[in-house]
Amino acid sequence: MLSMNYVNYAYLLAAVLFILGLKGLAHPRTAVRGNRMAALGMLIATVVTLLIGNIEFHYIIIGVVIGALIGTVAAMKVAMTAMPEMVGLFNGFGGGASVLVAGSALVATMLHAAGHEADTQMKIATVASGIIGSVTFFGSYVAFGKLAEFLAVRWKLYTWQKIIKYGFSLMVMAGGVWFGYVEEFSPMAIGVTISAILIGLILWSPKDRFPGINALKILFGIAAVALAVLVVFNPEDLTMFWLMVGVAGVLGVLLTISIGGADMPVVIALLNSYSGLAAAATGFVINNNVLIIAGSLVGASGIILTNIMCKAMNRSLTNVLFGVMGPTSDTPDADDVYKTVKSTSADEIAMMLDTAQRVVIVPGYGMAVSQAQHAVRDLANLLEERDITVEFAIHPVAGRMPGHMNVLLAEANIPYDKLKEMDEINPTMNTVDIAIVLGANDVVNPVAKTDPGSPIAGMPIIDVDKARTSVVIKRSLSPGFAGIPNPLFAAENNLMYFGDGKKAILDLIAAIKESS
Ligand code: NAP
Repeated sequence: MLSMNYVNYAYLLAAVLFILGLKGLAHPRTAVRGNRMAALGMLIATVVTLLIGNIEFHYIIIGVVIGALIGTVAAMKVAMTAMPEMVGLFNGFGGGASVLVAGSALVATMLHAAGHEADTQMKIATVASGIIGSVTFFGSYVAFGKLAEFLAVRWKLYTWQKIIKYGFSLMVMAGGVWFGYVEEFSPMAIGVTISAILIGLILWSPKDRFPGINALKILFGIAAVALAVLVVFNPEDLTMFWLMVGVAGVLGVLLTISIGGADMPVVIALLNSYSGLAAAATGFVINNNVLIIAGSLVGASGIILTNIMCKAMNRSLTNVLFGVMGPTSDTPDADDVYKTVKSTSADEIAMMLDTAQRVVIVPGYGMAVSQAQHAVRDLANLLEERDITVEFAIHPVAGRMPGHMNVLLAEANIPYDKLKEMDEINPTMNTVDIAIVLGANDVVNPVAKTDPGSPIAGMPIIDVDKARTSVVIKRSLSPGFAGIPNPLFAAENNLMYFGDGKKAILDLIAAIKESS
């Protein structure tokens, strides 16, 4: 057994490593080192916690083996572009773990296990962990569903997505009924069962919008807090605790399911912050300093990221959480918008590039899907050899996760000084000869500026429409994440180059080489 003094020194060291790790993660150049530092901190914290004593190792070993297996298979199998939804899902597990730890601490209190007296701090922390953890768990599942694009009507489901969607919905409903049965359908157990069936049905439903959803959110928020007060006054009533968790789960689903496509980056950052807060609350439940510190760091950095994302989308957090966004009946019909679309070929673009002096490449989600970043680097090098200035315009929410484009372009060794933030590049877009939009859509959609009724109204965009000529590379005229048509495609000075992002760039490189 390790003395608590040594344990706390080790926790302090781990906390310092977490902070240095976070600092490192702030810049692509130091990110790998930062990640390693934080991982070392986590290793120290875990080993020291295991050495405190009174631990049954066989359960931990079973958990570690199962977790490592799932994590390794997922990390190896899941495509790079599906990484955001995987991170979202795993993030939710953090919230779920907090709920379970808080619940088991309550059980230990009821059994009067040594060191488990329910003082006020422990009781408040337990309900906080239960509510925030459950909101995070169910909210993250919904965020995962939206990112994987199976919680909306128009997308086709892959088998694994169907298994997760319907399997999870069934599990939640069956769990609720089983709980009611075990508790002999007492009034409280009926409450848990109804909450679980409601969550299951919402998750099952293909529609992502309900009338009066904001009123429901407020109602479930109040109910969760009221139940939390009852648990604090009567911590021996476990059913009440699970009812509170169920109600918070419905709240998590409602909060996330109504959020429009384009606002998802904000929600991901917010849920990340919630998982940290749930962990910090759990730290108070089990009196673990390093959990309190690590949870607070995740909570605080998540809130900072949420704020940055809100600014990038030009929205307030209340607007994101309570404004229902997405295509509406007022959204113009794609057929009307795309009447004057002109398409082009690699040879024609190569000819235009012959006389260009300044080219800006605007990458988006399609570059990630087609893994075109290396081909794009080769194109940029080729153009630079021909004395053309090449820059990359980076929109803060391009792709599917914060920093998605920066990560991909860094992977292809594109120098950081060529990556220009939206605010820096926009004022000079009118001096750009050719803007090449590679698999980006929402982040260059001018309706954000022109149509106040549009789901992306007010979101700052990269002003590609101001370039002398723009070329959009994508496979078809289908919409982006926000689900709305893009009038840029039909603009006077725009040409569509249809095809897979990587193949289109490789063909363009070949055409440029041929033309010289
Ligand atoms: P987008 O609006 O989602 O559009 C991506 C485009 O890529 C699609 O229109 C698609 O058109 C094209 N595409 C897909 N596969 C392709 C391929 N293999 N080759 C070429 N093109 C391909 O993407 P965005 O402009 O990057 O905007 C990001 C959107 O996601 C925003 O609405 C943002 O709010 C949201 N979002 C961002 C984050 C984040 O943190 N960054 C998180 C969640 C959501 P085709 O099918 O016609 O090819």
